[in-house]
This record gives sequence, C-alpha cells and structure tokens, in this order.
Amino acid sequence: MIKDPYQNAVAQLEAVAEVLGLDEEIKERLSVPDKVHMTELEIEMDDGSKKKFQAFRSQHNNAKGPYKGGIRFHQNVSEAEVKALSMWMTWKCSVVGIPYGGGKGGIIVNPKELSRTELERLSRAYAKWAEGFVGPWRDVPAPDVNTNSQIMAWMIDELLEIKREKGEDKLVNWRATFTGKPVEIGGSLGRTEATGMGGFYTLLNLTQYKGWNKNEVKLAVQGIGNVGYWFAKLAQDEGYQVVALSDSKGGIYNPEGLDVDAVLQHKQETGSVVGFANSQEVSNEELLELPVTVVVPAALENVITHENADRIKAEAIIEMANGPVTPEADKILAERGVVSIPDVLANAGGVTVSYFEWVQNLQGYYWSKEDVFAKLKKIMDRAWQEMVDMKELKELANMRMAAYAVSVDRVVKAMKAFK
Ligand code: NAD
Repeated sequence: MIKDPYQNAVAQLEAVAEVLGLDEEIKERLSVPDKVHMTELEIEMDDGSKKKFQAFRSQHNNAKGPYKGGIRFHQNVSEAEVKALSMWMTWKCSVVGIPYGGGKGGIIVNPKELSRTELERLSRAYAKWAEGFVGPWRDVPAPDVNTNSQIMAWMIDELLEIKREKGEDKLVNWRATFTGKPVEIGGSLGRTEATGMGGFYTLLNLTQYKGWNKNEVKLAVQGIGNVGYWFAKLAQDEGYQVVALSDSKGGIYNPEGLDVDAVLQHKQETGSVVGFANSQEVSNEELLELPVTVVVPAALENVITHENADRIKAEAIIEMANGPVTPEADKILAERGVVSIPDVLANAGGVTVSYFEWVQNLQGYYWSKEDVFAKLKKIMDRAWQEMVDMKELKELANMRMAAYAVSVDRVVKAMKAFK
C-alpha cells in the first residue's frame, strides 16, 4: 500500500536514525518541520469574481543554511505532501554538501484551468504572502511541478515592490531569494540541463562501480521531459544505448537503440514519442520491465511498487523523478540485488545548480556553462563516493540508506554544533 508521503518520510528517518544511533530528541525534532506556513490566497479571476486557493510553505530544517525547495502548483498538493517534500529537500541538499536546509511550497490549484493573467495574480499573491519569511538568507524557493522561470520572475517583481515600499530594497540582492530565474535577470547558465547532467554523472559513477563497458549498457528512460531528455541525450552522446523512451501517451522500444534527438523531434511534430520509426510500442508499465541494464524513471512518483518490483529485469535503477520507488519495492529490489540510486542523490544536479545561481547572484560574478558543469561534476562525484563509502562502512542494505545516513548525520552534527 502506498502511504501518505509524510508517513513515508518519517518511516525513512526512523530507519536511518537506527543506523546512526540517534537519540529520541533529535529524531523527534527532525520528524516535524520547523514551521509550516499556511494561508488562503484570494485573487480576482478574469470574470471579476473572487476565488480562494490554499497555499503552503513548509520549512523543515535550517541547521545547514537557509531553507531551500520548490513551489508546486497542483491540485494534489497537501500539507502532508509539502511536509514530506521539505524533509526530503533537507536530505538532498545535505547529501550533496550544499549549505542549505529543506523547504517546499505549494498551492492547491490546477494551473491549466487558469488564464495567464490569473496565474500571474496567484503567483504574485503567493510572493506577497511569503515576503516575511523568504529571502536569500532565510528561505530560497525555486520552480517545481507546474511552476517555471516566468513564475519566479513574477514573484521576484512582487517581492522587490514590497521591499521598495519598505525602503529595504538596497539591503541585499533580493533576486537571490528565488532560483530558477530567467538567465536575463540572474538565472544561471546550465540550469536547464542541470538535473539531467547530474544524473548522467551518476550514471558514469555507477558504470565504474559495476565495472560495465558503457557501450554495452542499455537504458530505458521513462519520461522525455526536461530531466529525461537531457539524461538520455547526454548518455547517448557518451556511447550508452538508449533503447526505450516514453511520455504520458506511451513508450517506444528498439533493442538496437533509439536516436534521442530524432525521437524528441517526432514528439514535437506528432505530440508523442509513440509511432516513431523502427520502434515497438510499449506501455509505461512495460518499459520499466524491459531487459535493459538500467531503468531510469524520470517522470512520476510511485511507479515501481511491490506489484512490479519482482519483474524489474534491469541491474540498476537511477531515480531521476522524485520518489519513483516505494519503500516496499525498495526492500524487494535490495533482496534481488537490483541497485537503486536514490532520488536525493541522482536528481540533486538541479538544486546544486540552483545553489550556484544563488552564489553568483550574491557575488555579482557570473560563470560560464563549462564552469557550472565542472563544479557540478565535482560535487556529484564527491557525493557518490561518500554514499558508497557509507554503504560499506555501515554494511547497509541499499544506496538509499547510505545516502540518508550521510545526509542525516551531517544535519545532526550541524544541529549539535549550535548547542
Ligand atoms: P517535465 O514536465 O519536463 O517532464 C515530465 C515527463 O513525464 C514528460 O515527458 C511527460 O510526458 C512524462 N509523463 C507525464 N505523465 C506520465 C505518465 N503517466 N507516464 C509516463 N510519463 C509521463 O518534468 P521534469 O522537470 O522533467 O521532471 C520530471 C521528474 O523529475 C519529476 O518527478 C520531478 O519532480 C523530478 N525532478 C525534476 C527536476 C528539474 O530540475 N526539472 C529536479 C529534480 C527532480
């Protein structure tokens, strides 16, 4: 059974607390966010009527630095979801060693039902509400599901307006409050590719760890969105074989390999990857069970569960989506010797380049794309090694526990340093 995400997050924390021998007080403290802000935002709709939307911002822990995490606009957003996601952000930032804590925000809304002007009003209303508890040294939001650089730009504009009214606009570069901005107003080069690139560096490390020959490694990638596309494209350019790709309408498979750019072009022309020349149609469920070396879920959460974990034929999974493997499936995979590289590490390239964006904003010194990727690689390689070392040291069942042990240990040490 898939539990609510917050229950999952707390259960994971309890397991890792046992590995690290954490005391009850620390565990209790980490089980609940420092603060969950909630409100109802009222905006004017285009027809002149007023509508209210429930909004959240969960600030989990800031022992390592300002809270960091995206803002999600989705009809399934809930208090439990933002609390869980904020906790996972604490672990994600810590596992790659960037000086942030964890946060997450959201609004219960289906943005597809809003016009552009309504979306702008809602984004501005969120920023106005959050003005008192976000900022470069307090809490640094970013885009998440259904939010993007345009929404960040509206939020910054709103924030700056309030800071001007208060006479606080010159104190710091308030633009550094939000990452994932358009490059024209302070976004970092390389942010678009960052998450896929971080996953690609993880694939290189996994290849070495398993002693594979990269030319023989076959990849099945679920989702050809921003993350899935860049992961698949970079892997293919390096000599890996991408044999399956999918989108929400279905998937395609060719054991001899697919041309990733040609598939994307087909999708742009026809609306889906399905129907691509010389490929066999597979469902999104079948894609996960193909006879490949690595399965890469890069779309949705909870796609590998106790129901299909037994049928996964791949030797490894790289979790590019957030939460694609359920805790029950994790156990089955570990027993079967399938290595699963956890999302907190595999998809941390995005937040790492968000961190670079913030550093560049605060320094007023901007880096080339090559610099960004070189610095990202160093961080991903170091995090990989620390995870592998922890797995061996503590003889842990899987990489997830190892990554969590590294990250929770760091957060706890930071909390204790203040005492
Ligand atoms: P995206 O919207 O660009 O792409 C999502 C892809 O998933 C699309 O190809 C879409 O067709 C596909 N998809 C949607 N419904 C599907 C379904 N039912 N079955 C199969 N495929 C389906 O999103 P993205 O930015 O690439 O994010 C993908 C995942 O990665 C999400 O879980 C997200 O939380 C996670 N993530 C993204 C980033 C980032 O920087 N973008 C960072 C960390 C984690």
